Amino acid sequence: SKTEPTTHTGRGTGTDVVTVRVPAKVNVQLAVGAARPDGFHDLANVFLAVGLYDEVTVTPADELRITCEGPDADQVPLDATNLAARAALELARRYGVEPGVHLHIAKDIPVAGGMAGGSADGAGALLACDALWGTNASREELLDICAELGSDVPFSLVGGAALGVGRGEQLRTLEVGGTFHWVFAIAERGLSTPAVFREFDRMNEGVRIPEPVASQELLDALAKGDAGALARAVSNDLQPAALSLFPALADTLAAGRNAGALAALVSGSGPTTAFLAADAESARAVADTLRASGTCRTVRVTDGPAPGATVV
Ligand code: ATP
Repeated sequence: SKTEPTTHTGRGTGTDVVTVRVPAKVNVQLAVGAARPDGFHDLANVFLAVGLYDEVTVTPADELRITCEGPDADQVPLDATNLAARAALELARRYGVEPGVHLHIAKDIPVAGGMAGGSADGAGALLACDALWGTNASREELLDICAELGSDVPFSLVGGAALGVGRGEQLRTLEVGGTFHWVFAIAERGLSTPAVFREFDRMNEGVRIPEPVASQELLDALAKGDAGALARAVSNDLQPAALSLFPALADTLAAGRNAGALAALVSGSGPTTAFLAADAESARAVADTLRASGTCRTVRVTDGPAPGATVV
């Protein structure tokens, strides 16, 4: 095939379809600081990408259009509020490209589940449109657009494991010395991330909240690939707020713990619950027990770290 020079005219690079695969995340540590004057919270956020993926496929179209398939597709907004649309529009704006593109999302990441599904689609659409339009944005510029779209979007692009500070968007890549086996229990309904932060603020009114810092034990456990040590170090400051808004999650956590999970925690703002298992076999056993417990909608078994957004 011929290689055309890079253009910023929106004529593209001769490619007419690009698919990007993007992983979900679990927060193995989510330390939340006091609310800032702008309403955001400072975070120390240790992200681990796991092997549940959305795929974003882009093709040229007369105007921006979004479609979505998957079990939760009916809960995904198909207008300009969709993070995939916002990503495409921002890239087009910066490069003066016509944003005529059909974005198709094959959604496997639970919606409003605390696994950064919307963020994954934003990062995926960005990388896909960059390839489709031949805009050739630098890694730095892509990360800058991601940070503008949302706190979790830069990590969706990068994948692996990373420490996020600030709102979570300033990333430091972390070494991971092995594979961690996870089970995710997906709840009957979603939880709104802003609502969980509001509940966190309500529950902590009048409380002096320390500066959020990453746990050295946790970073060491990741670096060693030591699941037992990681299980002892995981923490999520949003868990009490998520449980307060969704008390039945306590039953799911208990079911997974009783089934032999090394650790059980709410993933991010929830309501997905995450169970760290000693190995793949133990993960399958935890999953079987969770399925039989009737305390969740679906159970998924996977591992991490997973690679970030990748053109497939
Ligand atoms: P996080 O873990 O980053 O807090 P989440 O996984 O809990 O996010 P998302 O699935 O990202 O939640 O979606 C939260 C809300 O964002 C949805 O209820 C939906 O209204 C909106 N949204 C915007 N774009 C998307 C998208 N591409 N996919 C899913 N939801 C989207």
